[in-house]
Amino acid sequence: KVAQRYDNLAAARNFKPGKAKNSTMDIPEIFGENTLTLDKLEERLPKAAWKDLQKTIDEGESLNIDVADAVALAMKDWATEKGATHFTHWFQPLTGSTAEKHDSFITPNQGGGAMAVFSGKDLIQGEPDASSFPSGGLRPTFEARGYTAWDPTSPAFLIENQNGTYLCIPTAFASWKGEALDHKTPLLRSSDALNKAAKAALKLFGIESKKVNSTVGCEQEYFLIDQEFVYRRPDILTSGRTLVGAKPPRGQELDDHYFGSIPERVLSFMLEAEKELYKLGIPVKTRHNEVAPSQYELAPIFEMSNVAADHQQLTMMVLKKVAKKYGLECLLHEKPFDGLNGSGKHLNWSLSTAEGDNLLEPGESPHENMKFLFFFTAVLLGVYRHQDLLRISVAHAGNDHRLGANEAPPAIISSFIGDQLNDIVEQLISGGAKSSKQGGLLGLGSPVLPHLPKHAGDRNRTSPFAFTGNKFEFRALGSNQSPSFPIVVLNTIVAEAIEDMTEDLNKAKKGDSIEKALAKVLSNRLKECKAVIFNGDGYSDEWQDEAKERGLLNLKTTPDALPYLTEKENISLFKKYKVLNKKEMLSRKEIWTEQYITTRTIEVDTIESIAKTMIYPAVVRYIGELSKAVDQTKALGLDHSGSLNMLNKVNDGLNRLNTALEKLAEVQGKLSYKDTSDHARKVETDVLPIMKDIRDAIDFLERYVADDYWPLPVYREMLFIK
Ligand code: ADP
Ligand code: MG
Repeated sequence: KVAQRYDNLAAARNFKPGKAKNSTMDIPEIFGENTLTLDKLEERLPKAAWKDLQKTIDEGESLNIDVADAVALAMKDWATEKGATHFTHWFQPLTGSTAEKHDSFITPNQGGGAMAVFSGKDLIQGEPDASSFPSGGLRPTFEARGYTAWDPTSPAFLIENQNGTYLCIPTAFASWKGEALDHKTPLLRSSDALNKAAKAALKLFGIESKKVNSTVGCEQEYFLIDQEFVYRRPDILTSGRTLVGAKPPRGQELDDHYFGSIPERVLSFMLEAEKELYKLGIPVKTRHNEVAPSQYELAPIFEMSNVAADHQQLTMMVLKKVAKKYGLECLLHEKPFDGLNGSGKHLNWSLSTAEGDNLLEPGESPHENMKFLFFFTAVLLGVYRHQDLLRISVAHAGNDHRLGANEAPPAIISSFIGDQLNDIVEQLISGGAKSSKQGGLLGLGSPVLPHLPKHAGDRNRTSPFAFTGNKFEFRALGSNQSPSFPIVVLNTIVAEAIEDMTEDLNKAKKGDSIEKALAKVLSNRLKECKAVIFNGDGYSDEWQDEAKERGLLNLKTTPDALPYLTEKENISLFKKYKVLNKKEMLSRKEIWTEQYITTRTIEVDTIESIAKTMIYPAVVRYIGELSKAVDQTKALGLDHSGSLNMLNKVNDGLNRLNTALEKLAEVQGKLSYKDTSDHARKVETDVLPIMKDIRDAIDFLERYVADDYWPLPVYREMLFIK
């Protein structure tokens, strides 16, 4: 029985590199193979239908049903030609993952034959039973109805399996009353709000744009460990992270992993995962090792935010799926291993016109600078005013282990803009002190103003929201989360700021040149939001104090942050921009709070069961053996101080564990609360510390109990057997 443990070490042997055949990847050939790109759709659609569809996609016009019929036909033909037998409306419920319910394209008829059916109606609307998806009170169970609605702005795609293929149609998911039950609906609504605000603002700069959208590129961090270990770790199986485990003698101290050469098995995995992603039309670009052992990162080229959010969900799915083929498990948890860096997701965000103009590109000429400074300031203003929303958008149980833990940005939302831009901001605030002799303004276009930096010379890894060249990078996202809500928040808060500044500018412009008017507006608004700019070390203790003095929020944990979601200002903001109504906001708060509680409850139950059914028995057996050794050495008249000392240590550890378990039972027995928020808070303040006590006792024991008795794969094995 005991020898079983050593099977763990055979784990890596399960991987056999494939036959050494030359399988180079023809990226242009396979790119988008499994996705119905707009080009392909255009080829298959009648001209008029295509024109109508294009209007919907480019300008957000609503779609008529005849066009839907034409698209459905084209879609079905394309999918069945490629071997698809089924289709599904693919949606993103608030669980954070994706959902599908498959229907066959082929309906057997009574005559014994079969008929292919898929109409515009099937394409536009689906009706999955919504009762098992979280609704946070939006939908009483007797109203189980929910609808999925086709999102024509995100391309349909095929999922392949060795035994078949099916078509996925990206959809939004709402209750029968039209309340959003998913991530996509508010994202589309917020894109609309942003579009309207930004287009109106651009007019002031003499620019007519068809559409403005946010662009997003997500850098994704993850761990890969041998699957064998996962099956032997109940904590990873239920919670995605290790709940116990002593720090290995060698962790990330040597800094030898970061950007190091990629291990063979991992590289094979990456190549296949990338191939899958290319086929789905997901433009993955970079891959490298990350800081911790067995940690890696992947990043795509940016896309329109709605498509990028869908693609991000698919990316996580593909990583997990392909890893298994190589005997690996892809861990997307924010903190799989205590004492080592966790995994995050960087949300790179910018604004782009349909004509391809990046509005956060500093550019070369004064005219471009004006436009840049306007939108750049609007982002800072939005971030300053709505720190709480940004914080909430990254608040979940997994991320609580990471944010503020000296490896990830602090829970305080601030923005790094670099020295050069900071200098420009100072100039603008001081109201044109540097205005040029020619009467130019604040050096705009004058020699006084340095060319705006394309790349801020320095990189600051400690800032949660950094300006990096021509985009902002929101770095506080957890690796496992959907990027959708953070995008929703950014779109909405920036839409509001743009709208306010447009109004400012319209007022200031009366009787003044646009340059002078803009200078005034920028000066005022930058003064207002200056407190959110911070270019120093976000990990330092001084920043905690300074942020407090500046009046910035510091919402350390999920239970701290979530209650802010339904503050009056937030409800009215989302209502004003028609992104989420009050009921939808309340339901989200409820769902996310419940998710926190559920996650923690599963973790506590798991650690308790590991302690009682795996660790306790192993330790007791070892104590038996040690006791015997003490007795026998004593009987032989030998010095038995060594075995006695070990026995004492192990016995102490076991007693500590026992005390912690008893305390847990006691606390759980009398846990009472008045609502979900209070429940979440109590779990955090009363239960979490005992989980830590249990863990500490177990990690102590791991250092003393004989290795062949220890029932769990240890960090050393999981992280270094590749
Ligand atoms: P950095 O070196 O600053 O991380 P990269 O060019 O490597 O910058 O980009 C990192 C991520 O940012 C990539 O996913 C990339 O697609 C994304 N990105 C770059 N430009 C933009 C943009 N304008 N909008 C959104 N994301 C962008
Ligand atoms: Mg980055």
